[in-house]
Amino acid sequence: MTDYDLIIRGGTVHDGLGSAARVADLAVKDGLIAAIGAVTGSASEEIDARGLLVTPGFVDVHTHYDGQATWENRLVPSSGHGVTSVVMGNCGVGFAPCRPGQHDILVKVMEGVEDVPEVVMTEGLPWNWETFPDYLDALQAREFDIDVAAQLPHSALRVFVMGERAGRCALSPRRRSGLARWA
Ligand SMILES: [Zn+2]
Repeated sequence: MTDYDLIIRGGTVHDGLGSAARVADLAVKDGLIAAIGAVTGSASEEIDARGLLVTPGFVDVHTHYDGQATWENRLVPSSGHGVTSVVMGNCGVGFAPCRPGQHDILVKVMEGVEDVPEVVMTEGLPWNWETFPDYLDALQAREFDIDVAAQLPHSALRVFVMGERAGRCALSPRRRSGLARWA
């Protein structure tokens, strides 16, 4: 019987509360931080973190995993960099809502705005949704290595409501160049 489930030893701890960084051990029990400081006792897993940072998970509030999240379970590179939550649907680009005949439009918008190669999206997107709630259900059915939050992207909504007329709206020059390829 061990005292903790995990002890991370000797890392430089940034607690996320504004406290000064300090070298300390950190112990976890039942999914919660149980002790920080000079931790005695044992754990079923120990990590030597000397020379490394120990921090709360980072929340990346601006990402474009809208497509990748529909075909990948690991949201790399973010999940490898200490990010534990991502928000997507930023910059107004994304893939829901989307009518069956409009898939290519949103792919071209994403390619034009975010430089995601078209072939990656056409090969990867399962399009097992039409409305935004459908899309959330499709994400909910998957498992990820980090938490995911999705915003409803305004370009997708505009195309869903207006069809091709959406390409003639007043848009930023950068976004207009993405839409111009299909408009
Ligand atoms: Zn963006």
